[in-house]
Amino acid sequence: ATEWNINQVRSDFPILSQKLENGQQVVFLDSAASAQKPTIVLDKEREVYSQYYANAYRGVYEFGAKVDEELETSRETVREFLNANSTNEIVFTSGTTMSLNVVAQAWGRKFLKEGDEVLLNEMEHHANIVPWQMIAQETGAKLRYLPLTEDGQLDLGRLPEFLNERTKVLSVTAMSNMLGTINPLEVLSKAAKTVGAKFVVDAAQYVPHGPIDVQALDIDFLAFSGHKIFGSTGVGILYGRENLLEEMPPLLGGGHMISEVHLDHSTWAGLPAKFEAGTIPIAQAISLGKAINYVNDLGWENLQRHEQELSAYAWEQLQTVPGIKIYGPGLKERGAIFSFTMEGAHPEDIAQLLNRKGVFVRHGHHCTMPLHNVLNITASVRASFAMYNTREEVDALIAALHFTRERLRLNR
Ligand code: PMP
Repeated sequence: ATEWNINQVRSDFPILSQKLENGQQVVFLDSAASAQKPTIVLDKEREVYSQYYANAYRGVYEFGAKVDEELETSRETVREFLNANSTNEIVFTSGTTMSLNVVAQAWGRKFLKEGDEVLLNEMEHHANIVPWQMIAQETGAKLRYLPLTEDGQLDLGRLPEFLNERTKVLSVTAMSNMLGTINPLEVLSKAAKTVGAKFVVDAAQYVPHGPIDVQALDIDFLAFSGHKIFGSTGVGILYGRENLLEEMPPLLGGGHMISEVHLDHSTWAGLPAKFEAGTIPIAQAISLGKAINYVNDLGWENLQRHEQELSAYAWEQLQTVPGIKIYGPGLKERGAIFSFTMEGAHPEDIAQLLNRKGVFVRHGHHCTMPLHNVLNITASVRASFAMYNTREEVDALIAALHFTRERLRLNR
């Protein structure tokens, strides 16, 4: 890894140096929704389209062969990133949502039955709730939700009440996209395995902050999206343990996923093709490897040190703003996501007024309506940080919050 130089990192992301119409510098604090892309990713897609683009896994001609080679290089980069055993376990999907739907629909439809239980929890993103609801309705399996502690962590003390021999799946987010909570995957994996449940990880929010070792953590399925880890939209990853992917049926049928097609039946291709029906997002899947290489080269330790310093500063500074309530745990248990409300101000008004100062944050329920219900709020404001954010941007956020308070006459 090279020396950490935040100015260099920022200059790798062309969009960050943009000025708004009024001359203001953009302060992008919505990377939890989708991260910005470094030049290396943009260049790679241009390279694919301008030098050797063709459909994948079909042509024997030179472009086709080059595309296949690039895709397999990217797949290998993802395998290394997750420390998966084999590239057969790395499936290109359209994103986290699709990956989790494949697990719920394809694995779930075959292996879940009436009386079985799927253990979720109150902080999950809708993408890790709704697919399970759909398959539960179909199979008669029951969903259970581990409650949270007051400060927005999984209430591990209550795990024994919720795990039993009927639990077939424990599915959890590695990092909450609202609370910022980083969940203890090792503890949860062990707990799942003691009752023979499959351990599923929604890594969408965690991966831009650190790699996850699927073997060390004994993970059965894991999902993430390219666009949150500085890659493109339209591509994501499903990791599945090889024997599990082997024994479950495909979800989508079509081209490339077959071995033989007859008029009355078909047989499936081997892994990972069995789960890659149709034309995959070729350029996006290739550039995803570049996005991961980019962070590998910066050095995950450097990135984490920078984000921790930034988080500590944001945490301390946000508390100085009157009327602010930050949700979720203390600094030790969270990553660089801060969701908050401000007394007397609607989250949408806050987001609008922050925008006037060039500070881009998200407001609303952040696809976590059950969590907002538990917290007894309808919406919150979320400032989320990536490794390209700076202390000066924290200062800009705080200044914009004071501007908001003035505008809304909250200081009277
Ligand atoms: N899970 C979590 C924790 C997320 O933050 C997101 C993205 N907001 C998703 C799942 C869904 O990801 P995508 O929309 O890319 O499928």
